[in-house]
Amino acid sequence: RSLLLARADTAMYAAKRGRQGHEVWAPDGTPASRDRLETLEQLRGALDGEQLDNHYQPKLDLRTGTVVGLEALVRWNHPARGLLYPDVFLPLAEQAGLMRRLALRVLERALRDLQGWRAQGHDLSVAVNLSVSNLQDVALPEQVEMLLDAFAVPAGALVLEITEDVLMADAARSQQVMAGLRRLSVRLSVDDYGTGYSSLSYLRALPVDELKLDRSFVAHLTTDDRAAAIVRSTLQLSRDLGMSMVVEGVEDAASLAALRAWGCDIAQGYHISRPMPAERVLGWLDSRPVRALRVPGARPRV
Ligand code: C2E
Ligand code: MG
Ligand code: MG
Ligand code: MG
Repeated sequence: RSLLLARADTAMYAAKRGRQGHEVWAPDGTPASRDRLETLEQLRGALDGEQLDNHYQPKLDLRTGTVVGLEALVRWNHPARGLLYPDVFLPLAEQAGLMRRLALRVLERALRDLQGWRAQGHDLSVAVNLSVSNLQDVALPEQVEMLLDAFAVPAGALVLEITEDVLMADAARSQQVMAGLRRLSVRLSVDDYGTGYSSLSYLRALPVDELKLDRSFVAHLTTDDRAAAIVRSTLQLSRDLGMSMVVEGVEDAASLAALRAWGCDIAQGYHISRPMPAERVLGWLDSRPVRALRVPGARPRV
């Protein structure tokens, strides 16, 4: 890789981060390639240590007002740079062939945390994101099975989120891996739905349980008739296919109300909760009703 490309990447990550309002990782004048190598070495270390952490973002059932699950989102507590977000280090991990280790780590932590919450009486599921290379890894189903056994978590309480580009890589292999996961009865979800290339063809062929509509459609829900039409018709499509639909990126009350009026099953977004460290989840679940996150008119589940 040329230094120029490495620099361009670093600048891109920094720009993306800046747009999202998170901490900007600014290269401090050192050559970007050295920076990357150093970061990579640190990432290898982090995979064995305590610096990698799962944050969790709740999924709210709009029909009942209950939280049905949490999505694990990996974070890196970097000793010098502070909290790093996945778009800074996932591309590095992917290039360096570290995605299997990363996925197993996130999964193990997620199942351990879920076991704890379920033991406290919360009937929750946990969702873990998988990368393209994870879905090319034929050993994955067996490893997932071992972890489910180890934490005595029922397979149906684990959701694995995959993006549409997974299916572009090596369709035969990823379908084999997906079939192996399905045999375990874990649930499969298509993340960022609507932004990939093969949206409709794979819906016919692949055994997925959930569509997560990309947040770009939700952002303009209340101001753009076309965005609204796409959300409503995707809802209808998911229903007709017998899948559930999660809408991600809900940032305001008006969007939440519209989604609920249209019969949307499940929503996620900053308006409901930002991702939080595992230690805060139980407290958040317990304090939720007084924080006015109840959905107007929702029937509590009995
Ligand atoms: P994703 O799976 O689509 O996750 C949603 C992303 O949007 C998260 O960013 C989340 O913090 C953010 N988000 C949630 N609600 C809102 C909202 O209302 N508004 C806005 N603007 N953003 C919202 P995050 O945590 O930075 O993760 C980015 C992506 O990195 C994820 O997108 C996922 O593709 C990937 N990722 C995260 N953790 C893992 C992991 O453990 N393994 C793999 N392979 N990928 C991961
Ligand atoms: Mg996701
Ligand atoms: Mg997404
Ligand atoms: Mg995404």
